[in-house]
Amino acid sequence: MVKKTESEVLKLYEERNIILESIADAFFAVDKQWIVTYWNKEAEKILNTPKHAILNRNLWEELSNSFSPQSHLKYHEALETNEVIKFEDYHLEKWFEISTYPSPIGLSVFLKDITERKLSETRLNELNEQLQKHAKDLAISNKELEDFAYVASHDLQEPLRMVTGFLGQIEKKYGSIIGAKGKEYIHYAVDGAKRMRQMILDLLEFSKVGGIEEKEEFVDLNEVVAEITLLSKERINETHAIINVAPLPSLRTNKAPIRHLFFNLVSNALKYQKGQQPAIIDISAEQTSTHWQFTIKDNGIGIEQQYFDKIFILFQRLHNKDEYSGTGIGLSVCKKIIENMGGKIWVESEWGKGSTFYFTIPKK
Ligand code: ADP
Repeated sequence: MVKKTESEVLKLYEERNIILESIADAFFAVDKQWIVTYWNKEAEKILNTPKHAILNRNLWEELSNSFSPQSHLKYHEALETNEVIKFEDYHLEKWFEISTYPSPIGLSVFLKDITERKLSETRLNELNEQLQKHAKDLAISNKELEDFAYVASHDLQEPLRMVTGFLGQIEKKYGSIIGAKGKEYIHYAVDGAKRMRQMILDLLEFSKVGGIEEKEEFVDLNEVVAEITLLSKERINETHAIINVAPLPSLRTNKAPIRHLFFNLVSNALKYQKGQQPAIIDISAEQTSTHWQFTIKDNGIGIEQQYFDKIFILFQRLHNKDEYSGTGIGLSVCKKIIENMGGKIWVESEWGKGSTFYFTIPKK
């Protein structure tokens, strides 16, 4: 073996010290009697002890209060078992990631200050818990609302049936006495009750969207649109409407809600036309890496920009029932369906020039 000269040994020591001083972690070494043989700058900082106050002294005698009982145990364990031990510990109001390396002459210890990471982790966990709690609260209040809507719509049907029924009886029994004006009032009252019944049924339908977990299947949207066109055949023929459908994708999804969605949007496009003008409806789809975006464009009456959000709210309509029939539930159901799927729905339109409804469905 080549014998190193004293200057070479000194050079090696110096190199080693430069390395140990330049690392970002605190580093110290002890011999088997826990006498400190090395203490770098970072250790001075992190462990609040200058090198001159600890070098060549017993670690536990000088600094027993700076370490936690866990560190005490682990350091001893590493030295006794001669095994590398890594652990996290909290002392001196800081979190440390600690690695202990035993050697035949003692123990080398690296301490990395991970307080910031730990604090962010704790904050993240707290936020996560808060988020989960909110999600749970929301699910409960949603469920309560749905139950309420369900019960209310069921229970309201009966008194409503009584109102309509007895109004019919009044008309039958006292028709001759109440005269034309009286019959007109009864007609309005029955009409109001009918509309209320429809709204209650709509509410019931709205409360059911997303409630029943259907099984997913492969749904060819070209077929879905073909089914809808067939269902609306009468209206399409009567109004000479034209529906252009660009090739649509097949999606793995629940069929009923997606069919409902297309049906509502196509029905609206057919309904909200200017006078006798035939509807021209274009249906298409495009994809990005994350989702599909569908477009249903019509040449109808259009919507003023100030109502772009309002029309998606339950029972919000821009027309009275004599102008265009409906109760204002269609688009709110569409919104609920799409949001249940994790997508978005919106409209772009110019008053008098037609509307384009867009919705997205995330890819799985
Ligand atoms: P409804 O058709 O029963 O009123 P919707 O929720 O489907 O209910 O629509 C809400 C409102 O949005 C409608 O009353 C109408 O004013 C407007 N709207 C919906 N679709 C269109 C469309 N294609 N063109 C113009 N207006 C529309």
